This record gives sequence, structure tokens and C-alpha cells, in this order.
Amino acid sequence: MKTFNYHSAKDVKEASKLSSSNSAFLAGGMTTLPSMKLGLASYKDLINLKNIKGLSGIKVSGKTVKIGSTTKHVEVAQSKEIKKAIPSLAALADGIGDPQVRNRGTIGGSVANNDPAADYPSACIALNAVIHTNSRKIEAEKFF
Ligand SMILES: Cc1cc2nc3c(=O)[nH]c(=O)nc-3n(C[C@H](O)[C@H](O)[C@H](O)COP(=O)(O)OP(=O)(O)OC[C@H]3O[C@@H](n4cnc5c(N)ncnc54)[C@H](O)[C@@H]3O)c2cc1C
Repeated sequence: MKTFNYHSAKDVKEASKLSSSNSAFLAGGMTTLPSMKLGLASYKDLINLKNIKGLSGIKVSGKTVKIGSTTKHVEVAQSKEIKKAIPSLAALADGIGDPQVRNRGTIGGSVANNDPAADYPSACIALNAVIHTNSRKIEAEKFF
């Protein structure tokens, strides 16, 4: 693995300011770190998102389900609210990878990574989800 600068952003503004075409955000690291170790990707800066308050969590109100980007797969899988509102989404999260991946990987990392073989992108399209970034709201159909 090549050397890189590690940053821990305190808020979205700082994370956004630190990012460049030669950086990656570190959420669960389940895609980024193996890619770096295998020499498939290298970055000058890694920006940890895990300490940003408010990026993680699940809120269900009426017919709206909001899942923060740093919410881990295990949290979606075990959420009573998700199980009630969209049981298939909880089941999907419970089937991602293995316990290690579910305990570290995040929904935001999966969506941003945009792997056509991953579970969340197709679920987002099927559920007509809207992806909220720091500057835009994008319908899943257009995002992917
Ligand atoms: C052994 C193994 C098995 C797996 N099995 C499955 C599976 O069965 N199904 C499946 O769907 N996935 C699977 N995955 C992928 C897993 O779900 C990853 O967790 C996910 O793809 C990436 O999430 P992460 O939080 O680890 O992201 P990271 O690796 O931290 O980041 C991945 C990318 O997303 C970007 N990113 C991360 N968070 C954000 C954010 N909030 N905003 C903007 N950009 C962001 C980063 O810059 C980086 O480019 C597997 C992974 C492994 C290692």
C-alpha cells in the first residue's frame, strides 16, 4: 500500500473542502482499503467520515424512510423501524457480505461506489429512492 495523508473530518463542509480528484472518503473502508492493498487504487488523501455527527442514523416518518450515509449495513438489517416499513430492505442489508462487512460497510459507501453487482443500487432504484448529497438531491434512476 502506498503512503497517504489521513484526515478525520469534523463536518461535511470540512470533508468536502479536503476532497480532490486524488482523494477518497473513508466510510466503512470495505471497498477502499482492499482496493488500496491490492494496488488497484491509490489516493493522496483519505478523509474519514465516521466522526461526522448527523451523517448516521435511521428516521422513519409517515411514508418516508431516511438513512444517513454512514449508517452501517448491520444497523439497517437490525432496525425495527426498517423491518416494519420496508422488510425487504432489512433482509437485503442482512445478506450483504459477511458479519465483518456488515459491521463496517455503510449504505453511503455502497451507493457512492456504484458497483452494478452491489445490492443497494438496485434496491434504491426499485424503491424510487432519492440520494441526498451535500449540494443536490438526485433520483436513484438518474444517480446510477
Ligand atoms: C468481502 C466483501 C464482501 C462484500 N459483499 C457484498 C455484497 O454481498 N453485497 C454488496 O452490496 N456489497 C458487498 N460488499 C461491498 C460492501 O457493501 C461495502 O461496504 C461497500 O461497497 C462500500 O461501503 P464502505 O462504507 O465500506 O465504503 P468505503 O470503502 O469506505 O468507500 C467506498 C467509496 O465510496 C465513497 N464514499 C464512501 N462514503 C461516502 C459518502 N458518504 N459520500 C460520498 N462518497 C462516499 C468513497 O470515496 C469510496 O470511493 C462486500 C465487500 C467485501 C470486502
